[in-house]
Amino acid sequence: MFGEHMFIESSGGGSSGLPVAEPVIGAAGRTGSWRVYRPQIDKAKCTRCLLCWLFCPEGCVKRTHENDVEIDLNYCKGCGVCAEECPSRAITMIREED
Ligand code: SF4
Ligand code: SF4
Repeated sequence: MFGEHMFIESSGGGSSGLPVAEPVIGAAGRTGSWRVYRPQIDKAKCTRCLLCWLFCPEGCVKRTHENDVEIDLNYCKGCGVCAEECPSRAITMIREED
């Protein structure tokens, strides 16, 4: 569905040449600091379809060099959109203190 070059661990422009935005510290600080729930990915269920990356409003879903998907919890606000959109139900929202 998406070419590999679209999903990168870019920094400041990255290697793709595409205008990929990354979360940065804003006036409110790291947006993950006030999160109540956080997403937890079950790697056994994840098919690497990257729909979570597509739908995440914070742009904090990344693909690792090992071809896994991971979430930058510094900026994840715990909205749960990724869990809702994941077709494999691989993402569970858990309370921060759990
Ligand atoms: S949407 Fe679900 S299956 Fe697809 S990459 Fe994200 S966690 Fe994996
Ligand atoms: S919970 Fe919301 S902000 Fe966090 S990774 Fe999922 S979609 Fe992005």
